[in-house]
Amino acid sequence: MSAIQFLQWLTQAIYVLISIVVIGAAVRRATRVRVNIALFFGITTLIIAQGWVVRALGIPAGRMVSALTISLLLALPYVLVRLVNDFTTVPTWILRTAEVGLALCVASIVAFSPNMPLGVTLPLVLYFFVINAYVAVAFLRAARRTSGVTRRRMQAVAFGSGFLGLTILLAGLRAVQPAALREAFTLVQQLTSLASGISYFVGFAPPTLLRRAWQEPALRAFLGRAASLPQLPDTAAIVAELERGAVEALGAPHASIGLLDEASGKLLYTGPDGLVPFDTDALIGGRAFTTQEPVFSADAARDDPAHADLYRSTGALAILAAPITAGRKWLGVLSVFALRAPIFAEEDLRLVQLLADQGAVILESRALIDEAARVRAREEATRLKDDFLSVAAHDLKTPLTTLLASAQLMERRALRRPEAPPDLGSIRRIVGESIRLRGIVVELLDAARTEQGRLIGRREPTDLTEVAREVGARHTSGRHHVAVETPGPIVGVYDRLRIAQLLDNLVENAVKYSPAGGDVTLRLWEAEGMARLTVADHGIGIPPADLPRLFDRFHRAANVDDRNFAGMGLGLYIYRGIVEEHGGRMTVSSTLGAGSTFEIALPLRAEGDTETDGEESDERVGHEQHI
Ligand code: ADP
Repeated sequence: MSAIQFLQWLTQAIYVLISIVVIGAAVRRATRVRVNIALFFGITTLIIAQGWVVRALGIPAGRMVSALTISLLLALPYVLVRLVNDFTTVPTWILRTAEVGLALCVASIVAFSPNMPLGVTLPLVLYFFVINAYVAVAFLRAARRTSGVTRRRMQAVAFGSGFLGLTILLAGLRAVQPAALREAFTLVQQLTSLASGISYFVGFAPPTLLRRAWQEPALRAFLGRAASLPQLPDTAAIVAELERGAVEALGAPHASIGLLDEASGKLLYTGPDGLVPFDTDALIGGRAFTTQEPVFSADAARDDPAHADLYRSTGALAILAAPITAGRKWLGVLSVFALRAPIFAEEDLRLVQLLADQGAVILESRALIDEAARVRAREEATRLKDDFLSVAAHDLKTPLTTLLASAQLMERRALRRPEAPPDLGSIRRIVGESIRLRGIVVELLDAARTEQGRLIGRREPTDLTEVAREVGARHTSGRHHVAVETPGPIVGVYDRLRIAQLLDNLVENAVKYSPAGGDVTLRLWEAEGMARLTVADHGIGIPPADLPRLFDRFHRAANVDDRNFAGMGLGLYIYRGIVEEHGGRMTVSSTLGAGSTFEIALPLRAEGDTETDGEESDERVGHEQHI
């Protein structure tokens, strides 16, 4: 047996084998697509069988036999058009044209066979090629619109049509082939015919193993992403990712998740304009939800006529749906849909359930993360309130005790000796402690304002150099010298009182946390449209571990305590608020035991460069200056 003969037998055997498989499938369950696939391979087998019979009998094919063979061959592209229609939509006029064309072809074959003139043969060849080309293009276009396994199937079918066209072309060229090349031509023709049969088979009826292999990369990618999905910013983002995973794994054009909304008792699906509520038993997805079983509908418009229009308008005619359920908690439903049922295979229902189960785990983890965050936020709020109360009470208690003691002392003296001159020492203590008390109360109020972002009031052109010089003069003493280094006036539009408070307090801190004395330097300059400012000291410094939380409310560094440095740990929180409300930023750097530098950058021009910050800011302009 020559190589060509062997190849011919192999091709024919494979075609017959495929025919047995697909005809068997159609007999087991006669869906439209299965019948069409069986028809396609059945016709090919018939053509092959005809050749065998003719050869076995050793007689040349009769007129009717060859007419039948050619008619069967021409029926192939028509069956392919029907298959295109099973997987995507074919305009009715094309279907009708293909039918009429086929009828005309058969009629002319019967009339003219076996000696058909060129005028008849040419239109037949043209019919075959045009229809076949349409099939190839239709499947290629469908492949572009889909992904994953469906895309590969569509591509395989398009290749099949390409190979079929080539096979027929080579057969047609037989008459004009040079004799020397005849063998090579026949060989190539055998190969293209084999390739076409296999391509059609894997495209139309891929064996389960192949389908799984095609699905695997998408599934693997989805499962790889799954672990990180609960960390996405919100449930909507998780739902979108789950839908994408289902689309890719199944090679379906669309997927949609409906999540149970506890408040309304409805399933909320994501539509183009936001969430769309549906009763829990509505749609095909609702059936899967209420029965808690996966559901397959080959024709959703027929199975659920109430929503037929919706299915048609969204191209959701074949639907696979599976409940998303975590333990006994019904979370929602995953629906995957396509225009045509043959896009899906039977085992896809199990795959959708698997994806829905995976979705349930992801959504549950997300719910747990949200719950944990809520608990943490509640704990944090309670802790802050406790901190606030204890710090406030503690800091208010000291001056109040002194105040009370001094007032009681004055009272006793006045009772004992009403004629005695007023006790100036006690009065001064009372005034001093009252001022301290007011300072603490102002700081507490400012902290609340910072929280609400309502610190700054009317803005006006303010020369930072001038403010810095005033502050420097106020804090320079025998122990500390406050140096102001500046290139000249630096004018920006700021809340002057707040800026003065900011510099005052930063310098006050620098002095307070430099108990051994030393210079404090206030340096100002301009860079990149910003006013820059540093307050540097040579004091106790800040432990590196405290730097990240230094601007938090009530945070005091580990190297300070109430016995040596009075304070609440609210100041920096407020100062940073002042800077940020002006659109600037504030940072700190420090070397423990060597000193600290606070650095501020403030925009020179306020947004829109207005002098005031709106109407209501006038009400706030009367805030007290920190003492
Ligand atoms: P308070 O000074 O009332 O404690 P602040 O908010 O002003 O509150 O400061 C928070 C903490 O930052 C201080 O408790 C101190 O530990 C640290 N700190 C602030 N300024 C300096 C500085 N110039 N040098 C060293 N530590 C500082």
